Amino acid sequence: MAVERPKSSRLAKHGLKSERLLWPGKGPSAFEQELGDIESQLGLTTLEKAVAWSQTKSMWPDTFGLACCAIEMMSIVSSRYDIARFGMEAFRSSPRQADLLIISGRVAQKMAAPIKQIYDQMLEPKWVIAMGACASSGGMFNNYAVLQSVDKIIPVDIYVPGCPPRPEGLMEGIIRLHERVQAGVPAAYEVGGVAK
Ligand code: SF4
Repeated sequence: MAVERPKSSRLAKHGLKSERLLWPGKGPSAFEQELGDIESQLGLTTLEKAVAWSQTKSMWPDTFGLACCAIEMMSIVSSRYDIARFGMEAFRSSPRQADLLIISGRVAQKMAAPIKQIYDQMLEPKWVIAMGACASSGGMFNNYAVLQSVDKIIPVDIYVPGCPPRPEGLMEGIIRLHERVQAGVPAAYEVGGVAK
């Protein structure tokens, strides 16, 4: 199975230090490029990387929307944007069957507890995208009724800017999340927890 991987610093992961690797921005040497070509042709990989790759090709979002941003989120399953290309069209009705929570809209204080409950019911590994200005920072709702970022109650992996972000913006965030998972970056709940 061929797995995409960055070509630079592949040898560095194995403890090899060449002059080229110590020269940021110079790019991989001819030897590293040939090594990468051979690996991709032979389909060499590790179980860890294969699992990460498969996780990104079957990442199922929870069916959950909060406000205006949710309309943009819904459109990513349409034929125009076709999130099925990434194996993600199956929005699940139960958090127990979902591993991606897209917070699409402002989070009222009254919704904080239900969101936390939904997040806690999701099985690990799980990821969170804060979609739009309101979910990321409270947006224009700088008042006591709206949470000033969802990361005060749950860990967030990706923030998507905009009010509202276009579906392309959300898909960009999803692709960035896939890249993180494939690169082996731990989920936010493993490293950061919630904001203080
Ligand atoms: S970011 Fe804009 S579009 Fe999204 S929920 Fe807030 S006000 Fe609505």
